[in-house]
Amino acid sequence: MTKSYISPSRETKGGALTLVGFGPGSEDHLTPVARRAIEGADIIIGYRTYIDLVRPLIAEKTVIETGMTEEIDRATQAVELAYAGHRVTLVSSGDVGIYGMAGLAYEVLEQKGWTGPEIDVEVIPGITALSACASLLGAPLMHDFASISLSDLLTPWEIIRKRLEAAASADFVVALYNPRSSKRVRQVEEAREILLSHRAPETPVGIVKSAMREGETVVISNIDKMLTHPIGMLTTILVGNSQTRLVSGRMVTPRGYRNKYDLETGARIRKAQG
Ligand code: SAH
Repeated sequence: MTKSYISPSRETKGGALTLVGFGPGSEDHLTPVARRAIEGADIIIGYRTYIDLVRPLIAEKTVIETGMTEEIDRATQAVELAYAGHRVTLVSSGDVGIYGMAGLAYEVLEQKGWTGPEIDVEVIPGITALSACASLLGAPLMHDFASISLSDLLTPWEIIRKRLEAAASADFVVALYNPRSSKRVRQVEEAREILLSHRAPETPVGIVKSAMREGETVVISNIDKMLTHPIGMLTTILVGNSQTRLVSGRMVTPRGYRNKYDLETGARIRKAQG
């Protein structure tokens, strides 16, 4: 393992835009690279709640905080300030490139005619919610999975439905981001119905709220009963596939070793097929 990572593109002297995912919330889950990007910035921009989570790292800096629906504002300001020569860091929770700000920032750059050399742009990855939540539940993402956001603010519900149907019928483990808000309650109910039309009602479902931050709760339920538990804006739901089962209360999706090996002796029990 190399000790440190310095991106080869970090040499420019002009403005820089760094898009940082700071992980699920606790400082311990922030990568050292992300920490350097936050500490090395002149200006930090982010959604108010996210800025609060990284507040201890940014004491002396210029901070621009905006509300949740002001994404375009945030991205535009970040790009403009970087063009003006500042080192700007735009923060998102989890991974900035997964339902975060990275894509929008690139679109704003494209709109501005950015070709590359004008400002240095870098994306710093972070631990995304599905990974954080999976670790708290056991090992539910050991086989192929699909990640679907139930927010229909930017994506028509018809498309989300189609993706749910496809993932459910192909037996993917399914991670549901943005499952419910105070105004959006129907989506998770419909998602459950679609899943139920392809999977047994007792299929394990993990429901994790505020993983690795204050107020963390971890529940293992099943498709039948999943809606009897609290689900909100800070919840991620992981729905097992046909093979997912509980191992002493942990949610585990087998990779298939047991079909091929005796887990006690390690001996191969069958020749590989195909
Ligand atoms: N960029 C983020 C996702 C932002 S979308 C990431 O990579 O994690 C917002 C959704 O992410 C929330 O509705 C919730 O489903 C999920 N989420 C974000 N942080 C979470 C956490 N700490 N615990 C559980 N779910 C979380």
